[in-house]
Amino acid sequence: MKVYAFPHGGIHFTDPTAPPRKESVVAFLPVLSVIPLIQHAGAKALPLVLAGASVREGMLIGRAQGRGSAHIHAAVPGQVVRMVSWEMAKGVTNEGFIIRLGGSFEQLGKPEERFSWEGLAPREIQQRIIHCGIVEMEGSGRPLEDLFASLNKPREPETPEPLTLVVRCVFDDPWLVADYVLCRERAAAVVEGSIILGRACMASRIIYAVSAREKDLGTMLLAEAQSYAIPASLVLVSSRYPQRNARELELALRSYEKHEIQEKGEKGENLERLALGSLVIQGPATLAAVRDALVLQRPILDRYVAVGGSAVKKPQVMKVRIGTRIGDIFAECGGFTGEPQKIILGSPLSGRRVFEKNLDEPVIKTSYALGALLAKQTGGRVIRNCIGCGECRAVCPVGLDPEALFKGIVFCKEKTKETHKEIIEKAVECHGCGCCDLVCPSRLSLSTAFVNAVLEDQ
Ligand code: SF4
Ligand code: SF4
Repeated sequence: MKVYAFPHGGIHFTDPTAPPRKESVVAFLPVLSVIPLIQHAGAKALPLVLAGASVREGMLIGRAQGRGSAHIHAAVPGQVVRMVSWEMAKGVTNEGFIIRLGGSFEQLGKPEERFSWEGLAPREIQQRIIHCGIVEMEGSGRPLEDLFASLNKPREPETPEPLTLVVRCVFDDPWLVADYVLCRERAAAVVEGSIILGRACMASRIIYAVSAREKDLGTMLLAEAQSYAIPASLVLVSSRYPQRNARELELALRSYEKHEIQEKGEKGENLERLALGSLVIQGPATLAAVRDALVLQRPILDRYVAVGGSAVKKPQVMKVRIGTRIGDIFAECGGFTGEPQKIILGSPLSGRRVFEKNLDEPVIKTSYALGALLAKQTGGRVIRNCIGCGECRAVCPVGLDPEALFKGIVFCKEKTKETHKEIIEKAVECHGCGCCDLVCPSRLSLSTAFVNAVLEDQ
């Protein structure tokens, strides 16, 4: 068994406070939902309904406005009570509708009516995905509309570059357990979503990139894909964090490509068919949503969320309606064991801290994990002296020297223009994986210092 990996750095880590890999629990439907107008990477969607309006399950209630924006739909039927706004982080506010649950569901509890997508042209598939407001649900929230816009640019007809769709099932962080459970429970939907998106992107092949320790999951996905015509392969990749990052995953896949060309080329296979070309990388939650958009004509109404952390009584993976308030979710997990010091949306390593521990913030399309951490888990980040141990250098996958960079940013007060430029050029290379923070015995906030230095320079 050959396992492909990025060449340098990274870490293996476990977290006993992350939820276990058990089957998902369906969360209660919220009586009051909060449906935000920003659930994506870009600008706020334009509100289409007013207070007092009745809305249906899956109804369009916010229209995308430009790059990075996506359509917003009502996740439950009911009545719009009012508009609200709240602060998500310093300087960033969100706005949304409060919807009181009422009326009948059009999809929930009904037998699935299947729509045929097989005869659609790529542009028609793209339009349906855009109409359903599908975004990259594993973190960034980039709308798939932006991906299509980049792919639809005129290409040289004589030399069309091949394109490979990569299905990223890489579980290098224990907080990705919701994606793992989704893959197990909805494997057929993930695979059908990958075939549909492959068609929309005019991909020449599909690669299922799966963590080596989940080989059986990869085998299951590949077997499911065999009933479709597009060539599909399974590539086992390392489980070392941050293997799932686009840069690290591409390094591993290029190494696979080289190996495959060498091995199969010697056997006389057509080398052109083995070239990966450009890569489109998508995760299982996004692909399941793509499948639901085409097969059920359904926007994103719910998502799998990993709920855990030292402050949560019963960590578990839950299937949650978009718009459910995080306080309701924690209550369904038995409440808190003590006063949480931090509430995090996403993994504790790379997620976003919920501003002022606001338990009214809702689950949105990109909320793959939700954590409540006691003070002993957060550890407190105070600046102590660097002891020059070199641990941070050893784990940086990009090959940076975080110690030197940190000292340059924080302690070098009288920088020349050239030194400042050099520091920023290095800081830009950091992709914020947080490996250096995790291993630093002095608990220095290294990655935050690098991100802030770049932001201040803009
Ligand atoms: S956060 Fe940046 S500097 Fe630290 S290990 Fe990751 S890439 Fe390297
Ligand atoms: S890991 Fe922390 S203490 Fe060690 S060299 Fe890096 S910054 Fe200094």
